[in-house]
Amino acid sequence: MADAISKTRIARDPKTGKNYKVDGDMTFEEWKAGLSDEQRAAMKANVKAARTKPAKTVDNPVKKQSIFVPAKTVNEAEKYAEKLGVKYPEYNKLPLDTANELNRALETLPKDIRPVFVGDSKTLEEYYGSKLPRTSNHYYGVHIESLDGMRLGRDPITGMMKYDAEAYGHMVGISSKYNSPQKIAANKAEEQARYIKQHGNRYFFNMDGTSTPYHEMGHVYADKKGIPTGFEEDAKKWYREAQADMLKSTGEAWAEAWGAYHTGNKELPDYIAKYIENATQKPIAKSDERDIIDMWGEGMYRKHTEGKIEPMPKKQLNKIVKGFKKQGGVIVMNDEVTAHLKANSAEGVTWDAKTILLTKNPGRGAVFEELIHATQFRQGKIDATPRSRIICEIEAQEKLIKYSKAYKLTDYEVEQTKKALEEYKSALRNLD
Ligand SMILES: [Zn+2]
Repeated sequence: MADAISKTRIARDPKTGKNYKVDGDMTFEEWKAGLSDEQRAAMKANVKAARTKPAKTVDNPVKKQSIFVPAKTVNEAEKYAEKLGVKYPEYNKLPLDTANELNRALETLPKDIRPVFVGDSKTLEEYYGSKLPRTSNHYYGVHIESLDGMRLGRDPITGMMKYDAEAYGHMVGISSKYNSPQKIAANKAEEQARYIKQHGNRYFFNMDGTSTPYHEMGHVYADKKGIPTGFEEDAKKWYREAQADMLKSTGEAWAEAWGAYHTGNKELPDYIAKYIENATQKPIAKSDERDIIDMWGEGMYRKHTEGKIEPMPKKQLNKIVKGFKKQGGVIVMNDEVTAHLKANSAEGVTWDAKTILLTKNPGRGAVFEELIHATQFRQGKIDATPRSRIICEIEAQEKLIKYSKAYKLTDYEVEQTKKALEEYKSALRNLD
């Protein structure tokens, strides 16, 4: 043992954190016995801090934002909302940021309780058929349940109100006045300051402008599924600790917790977060809402081929990951991503010039294909249109075939790539 030969050892002063030398024969117990009371107290505190410190997180943007891909246009965002089960997404009067945040918030809700309408509050009122009790100057977000369908406006010719009697359910709106995260945050800050001046403590718990859509979805959850037992008690404690008056109402506390949890508000205590975590729709279950064949702005997938995939050697893969990182990109390969891809029958996906997701132990074909797609994104070749996507898929398959020897693709991978090439070519013909 090293102890036997070394004459001195390094110890750390628990109070100052500075290193110093001690006799090499000294055991930990002996050293501890020689500490002052102050040093011992500091050591205890250090140990406690180390235990409560959150585990070091890997540099992984995917985990943080789940697996949501923001739409690039409001139209695309509406299509995605439809895919999530919303019959009437009306994002035309909202900034793209807000539309994306609403979609992301929708994903947190279990599928069976998603609203029938999402959009701006003015359009919400039209669809709902009457004015809300407060004007949009007096709230940031709103939720209401329509029991009698949606009013879709007057027919310009007959003057009759078009009506969808089947579409009843929850409606979620973002204030037409405070319609962006920036506007919401700015006004909230003012309101909060006024409130503190008057009452001596704050009103809102969340100050982040992006929390509003989630807050409203939290209300939808509570209305549809109810607030879990135990929350009310814990929320009382939370209200006392946080001193934010909004939390006084259990319903608002629940919605505020939903907002805090999903926007990563670090102030949210664990004993509240656990309720939201349990209630939230798990991202992996979303996979059946997505598919590879209809590509509408969700990244470039490589289809997974069952078996016969020879994993790229670790050394080569590590080199590629490092090289991509050097260019400012990230290649993510973890369990969550692998599950997501497998559920989508994919081996890899590229979201943009800087983000590639791969299953663990990907084949060479998948790695190279996604690198080609990242380059295409960087060159601006891929936009939201199916046409650009298909053209880029064709280009990628052709490149893979051309360089199949250099890339060391297996015969099977080459076969698959040729098949894919034919499919994309016929998809392009169908577009014309
Ligand atoms: Zn509320």
